[in-house]
Amino acid sequence: MPRTPPDATIRTQLALPLRFADGYSTAARVFTFDGLVDGREHLAFGLGDRAGEFTPGDRGSRLPLVRLHSECVTGDVFGSQRCDCGPQMREAVERIAAAGGFLLYLRQEGRGIGLYAKLDAYGLQDAGLDTYEANLALGHAEDERDYTVAAQMAHALGSSRLALLSNNPDKAEQLGGLGVVVSEQVPTGLHLNPANARYLAAKARRGAHTLDVPLVG
Ligand SMILES: [Zn+2]
Repeated sequence: MPRTPPDATIRTQLALPLRFADGYSTAARVFTFDGLVDGREHLAFGLGDRAGEFTPGDRGSRLPLVRLHSECVTGDVFGSQRCDCGPQMREAVERIAAAGGFLLYLRQEGRGIGLYAKLDAYGLQDAGLDTYEANLALGHAEDERDYTVAAQMAHALGSSRLALLSNNPDKAEQLGGLGVVVSEQVPTGLHLNPANARYLAAKARRGAHTLDVPLVG
């Protein structure tokens, strides 16, 4: 039985035009919330036909395309090549703007272990562990992300039924247990470079991500 999380409410919403380093730009509406269970400052970005003012209770005319993006300061902001987060986010914004929907920006750095611990894990990866083994060696779970706040935001945005832009089966499964109906799962592209090949291969192998990654090592 799904356990519906406590209600969150929209705290503020306002227009936030976006322009990325490659010149791509789009209209967006950024939302903040009251009542998110972990008390962190998570954001939602309405894109495409969801970039206009949102009236609580409005479910929209089309199924929203939604991406749960976990914060990655190194990848999202600084263009780190050790992961695929920056290109994933950039791709997601454009695809969601075309389809209409929301990007949920979740403040759970390093699969939930935090920024310093993520960098510690990089050090262990340089010594030969993969991304999951490194988290375990630091005393963390392989993946500590909890998507309860994402479900709360989806419900608050009238998107309790959605199409999920993701290769990660854990996201759809967790959302389904939180009263969100994932009607469709839409795969993202593969953003491969020499520095992230091992990381992506580990995600495909150990995280059961649906990624068609060439075998490495
Ligand atoms: Zn990253």
